[in-house]
Amino acid sequence: MSAIIISGKELAQEKRQNMKLQTEELKQKGMVPGLAVILVGEDPASQSYVRAKERACKEIGVHSELDEVSVSITEEELLQKIDELNKADHIHGILVQLPLPDHISEEKVIEAIDPAKDVDGFHPINIGRMMIGQEAFLPCTPFGIVEMIKSKNIELQGKHVVVIGRSNIVGKPVGQLLLNEHATVTYCHSRTKDMSDYTKKADILVVAVGRPLMINADHMKEGAVVIDVGVNRNEEGKLVGDVDFKSAKEKASYITPVPGGVGPMTITMLLHNTILSAERHLKEEN
Ligand code: NAP
Repeated sequence: MSAIIISGKELAQEKRQNMKLQTEELKQKGMVPGLAVILVGEDPASQSYVRAKERACKEIGVHSELDEVSVSITEEELLQKIDELNKADHIHGILVQLPLPDHISEEKVIEAIDPAKDVDGFHPINIGRMMIGQEAFLPCTPFGIVEMIKSKNIELQGKHVVVIGRSNIVGKPVGQLLLNEHATVTYCHSRTKDMSDYTKKADILVVAVGRPLMINADHMKEGAVVIDVGVNRNEEGKLVGDVDFKSAKEKASYITPVPGGVGPMTITMLLHNTILSAERHLKEEN
């Protein structure tokens, strides 16, 4: 058996086509969705993520503003910038690219963003709302994963989901979103003993660790759905996931590739959240 590929690239394109229409409609009502991005320092990976976000905004007609600031910016100065963006009427989404330098508290920065403009979905208010099933900005990578699973009409109710990884931005929230969809969720992490006892029982396996090719067909059951969140560079500098795609695709029923899987969906859901924020803003105005 060879698995059906869930192409995040194709799904993202489809969604972005629809978003283009949405932004055109909003523009006719006098509203241009606006995203502000703050990049601290010159980390090449962060620079490339931020450029990709800017390109995506342009593609679908979202106004974007990039503020590239020196790594020596103080925490206070950064919080001041966020405060200004919180008050700016033409900005509906604020994103501070992580990670931040050690002298700046990520926690303080995330909490300084107005939850109504927190399109990354990292603010504790949005995380809390998501947990109790209230309307919230959902964190983009987990949101994209759920959209990918749903795009193939894969049943979630009653299914056993195993999530490997428990970070605040991927592992924990993706498990929560899948729980909200009535799946039974198990988390594995670095202290989990005999991890394959769990992974072999998974109907849906979500791998978000950051260790190249750590999961292969031997860790899965026949017909599992495999979502590979990992982004790693191998020795030849090529992008690879946490899953050994070649071996896993022979046993899985559905699988996401790397690249072209979860990655393009993350940015797409950021655009989705920005448009949603602009729509809410417009509703409040009228
Ligand atoms: P992270 O914060 O480093 O978390 C990694 C998680 O993996 C932790 O919970 C850790 O457990 C667990 N872990 C580490 N070694 C393990 C092992 N040997 N066995 C089981 N679990 C282990 O990483 P992240 O931010 O969640 O990102 C995970 C991966 O996804 C990375 O490759 C990242 O680049 C990628 N990513 C991709 C996207 C995208 O859009 N495609 C977005 C975000 C992240 P402990 O908690 O016990 O330490």
